[in-house]
Amino acid sequence: MKRSGRPPGRGSARMPGLQVESELGIAHFSEIGMAEHKTQVAVIGGGPGGYGAAFYAADQGMQVTLIDEEPNPGGVCLYRGCIPSKALLHVARVLTESREAANWGVEFPPPKIDINRMRAWKEGVVQKLTGGLGQLARQRKVTYIRGRAAIVDAHTLTATPNGGGEERVVFEHAIVATGSRPATLPHLPASDRVMDSTGALEIRRVPKSLLVIGGGYIGLEMATVYAALGSPVTVVEMLPRLLPGSADDDLVAILAKRMEKICDRVLLGTKVAEAKEQKDGVRVRFEGAAAGEHIFDQVLVAVGRKPNSDLAGLDRTRVKVNARGFIEVDPSRRTAEPSIYAIGDVAGEPMLAHKASHEGFTAVDSIAGRKVAFEPLAIPAVVFTDPEIAWCGLTEDEAKKENRPVKVAKFPWGASGRATTLDRTDGLTKLVIDPESERVLGVGIVGTGAGELIAEGVLAVEMSALAADLELCIHPHPTLSETLMEAAESFYGHSTDMYRPRR
Ligand code: FAD
Ligand code: NAD
Repeated sequence: MKRSGRPPGRGSARMPGLQVESELGIAHFSEIGMAEHKTQVAVIGGGPGGYGAAFYAADQGMQVTLIDEEPNPGGVCLYRGCIPSKALLHVARVLTESREAANWGVEFPPPKIDINRMRAWKEGVVQKLTGGLGQLARQRKVTYIRGRAAIVDAHTLTATPNGGGEERVVFEHAIVATGSRPATLPHLPASDRVMDSTGALEIRRVPKSLLVIGGGYIGLEMATVYAALGSPVTVVEMLPRLLPGSADDDLVAILAKRMEKICDRVLLGTKVAEAKEQKDGVRVRFEGAAAGEHIFDQVLVAVGRKPNSDLAGLDRTRVKVNARGFIEVDPSRRTAEPSIYAIGDVAGEPMLAHKASHEGFTAVDSIAGRKVAFEPLAIPAVVFTDPEIAWCGLTEDEAKKENRPVKVAKFPWGASGRATTLDRTDGLTKLVIDPESERVLGVGIVGTGAGELIAEGVLAVEMSALAADLELCIHPHPTLSETLMEAAESFYGHSTDMYRPRR
């Protein structure tokens, strides 16, 4: 198994004797406001990559300075990404279940939605978590500078606090973790009616109709939220499938069926050719498979994200940025400038929080002098739609493209007792298996709670589990986790809850 090479036990308490010596003989400054400030590790950007790296470095006795414009660490993920979207998706799930309960003999009156309280609750979640990170930074004596960083040279940066003034930070090593921002489309009007993911998460109102441009992660998650709130949602995706280039077709097909049910329209192979604001909304002309004109109250643009590699002064160093805008890094996440590392969204795909934080740990280990590489076998991906879709390791589509022979074992949730009790049999669990060794190379799951279930798949792939290991491990009954065991059983031709005639 290729691993990041992190030592067993990350905390300094479990690593006696590990104290990284400062080349600059630096004293720790906990007070902000001095003109010059020396540090062993400067981390630019306080997202999951940046704060994860900063905290890990501090836990190992390094002097750390973390710079971000927000009042506390958290980055996109906590302030305007993973966390607020999942809080709203939880509300969406409750709304949907309260409607579905009629099938089970329980009828609720139509919900009264107080959008202001919903927003306040979501903001409370964000504040609680980011406030907690601020507290953790102080406890670890990480110097937090609230401001914008610019590079001066390979060992110096400036940080401009929001209120003005400038601080110089001299560092031994810097970790660039500046994340990414929403990509835009050129032909959309500048209007309150047109929003990006940040605007959509603000939930200013429930639009009379919503166009979601992009059938990827953000488009589908936010379509799920707004549809549950009662907006008629149209999703337009330029490629012929939702979530292109991600999980296998058979998994996405189950989600697509549900999206078609909850949305007004799901238009594939279709692009926005023109959009103009008028009095009653945004008039949009589509071209492609569903060519035509429609008016929408609001439009959400979710067509991908661009790395924030335009960090001021980066061009004064040897750091290289590739044609797609990602900072180039080696396996230890070091850039072409030996004192500077880059992690997270700015350092390449997949743009996921857990990938960012693990890269951060790898970078810190490298700074500490350990020989490490970020080479995971399985980075799990989860789209938190309803049903969720999650996958890790090798997909069947990738195996086909690579001409790699694999065997696939599937367990449809129609045969799962637990899924039936939940009235959610719209699911499928699938294992991609090496035919020779019978090793589990990849796992894909669509179904309610798939995001939690995929962790077992990650463990299986990373630990080189055989299908037999999943088959022989006793899984609790009745749970959705049994679908992994039963998929493995079906590989050996004897899934208890699924009849397959003997060949
Ligand atoms: P970021 O979290 O982007 O943080 C970078 C920080 O650097 C920002 O605070 C930025 O302001 C700061 N910064 C930039 N330039 C400077 C500068 N010059 N000086 C100082 N600070 C600077 N991923 C998941 O894994 N799961 C999810 O459920 C999920 N949901 C998402 C939902 C939405 C709506 C969005 C938009 C994203 C979601 N993501 C999710 C993706 C996830 O947010 C990112 O992959 C993750 O935040 C990347 O972490 P990062 O540390 O690279 O940078
Ligand atoms: P995405 O890449 O997931 O999806 C963008 C979609 O827009 C693609 O399917 C693309 O084909 C389509 N598209 C592009 N241009 C278009 C056009 N002109 N007309 C119609 N469709 C168009 O990007 P995203 O949804 O913006 O999310 C960005 C990234 O943020 C994701 O890739 C992911 O890494 C991260 N994210 C993760 C999660 C999660 O982990 N649950 C949630 C949200 C975001």
